[in-house]
Amino acid sequence: MSKWLYLLSILTLILIGCGDEKSEGLTFTEKGREVPSFNVDSAYHFVEQQVEFGPRVPNTEAHQQALHYFQNKFKSYAGDNAVYVQRFEAEGYDETLNLGNVIAAFNLSGPDRIMLSAHWDSRPRADMDSTNAENPILGADDGASGVGVLLELARMFRDNPPPVGVDIILFDGEDYGKSGDLNRYFLGSRYWSKNPPVPGYSPRFGILLDMVGGAGAQFPKEQYSVNYAPNLVNEVWNIADEKGYGDMFLNEQGAAVSDDHVIVNEQAGIPIINIIHHYRKSNGVAEFPSYWHSQNDDLDIISKETLQAVGDVMAELIYNRL
Ligand SMILES: [Zn+2]
Repeated sequence: MSKWLYLLSILTLILIGCGDEKSEGLTFTEKGREVPSFNVDSAYHFVEQQVEFGPRVPNTEAHQQALHYFQNKFKSYAGDNAVYVQRFEAEGYDETLNLGNVIAAFNLSGPDRIMLSAHWDSRPRADMDSTNAENPILGADDGASGVGVLLELARMFRDNPPPVGVDIILFDGEDYGKSGDLNRYFLGSRYWSKNPPVPGYSPRFGILLDMVGGAGAQFPKEQYSVNYAPNLVNEVWNIADEKGYGDMFLNEQGAAVSDDHVIVNEQAGIPIINIIHHYRKSNGVAEFPSYWHSQNDDLDIISKETLQAVGDVMAELIYNRL
């Protein structure tokens, strides 16, 4: 039996008989547990490392290097048997894309689980640049920052097992599509939702981190998130406020941002929220920071202050509110 089948059979057994915990899955209380500190230097290093590979564009060498890097990192944190790469193909523009979602499971024996995710690919073009718009971008914030926070949380989970089971899922192919061609975005989350590695997978909730490392980031309450899991949104934003991050996690209505969480909610039925740096224009439409989808999305715009805030909020939620 392959390692993954072994993992699958354990998880399947766990899933039978935990159906009625869902209603309690989205209520939160302070548990008085000790919360490990989030090491922002390490998180920053994980962002830097991804940027050093170059643009993680599907069907490139850098993309493969990054995939192996995540796989090995996760194995060292979760164990060899708890990491799975879900490889798949998708139709791109005049090419067949070889893609892979990277999954790591912590506390395999725990029936009560949550899901954390980010996208690990970076965009093949710089649509927002006036020159060389066909060049790929480094995606230090758009892609690497969310993965960096999750890798550091994974390292934390190795040293301090979380009180619930945690599945980290890095989606591939989120940012492949040309502007406006939404069918070619979210390729990894679409595949994962249609082909769940663990049939019937039903975590309490999910959290998607996208663009969580930019200097001066603002996270208003993204609209789909509020619709899918209002209690979770309130808990996360309350924690941020208590920790003094209210100027970043704005207690304001955000815009509706199309992202992997919409696919995961609508196709896999999981209540999931998105923490994403964006602005809500007066007409309600989403706007993104100036470096978005441009060559300026490089390491220079990454702020340890932002990464720290997001990491602290996640750690408090996971270790002390569930
Ligand atoms: Zn993007």
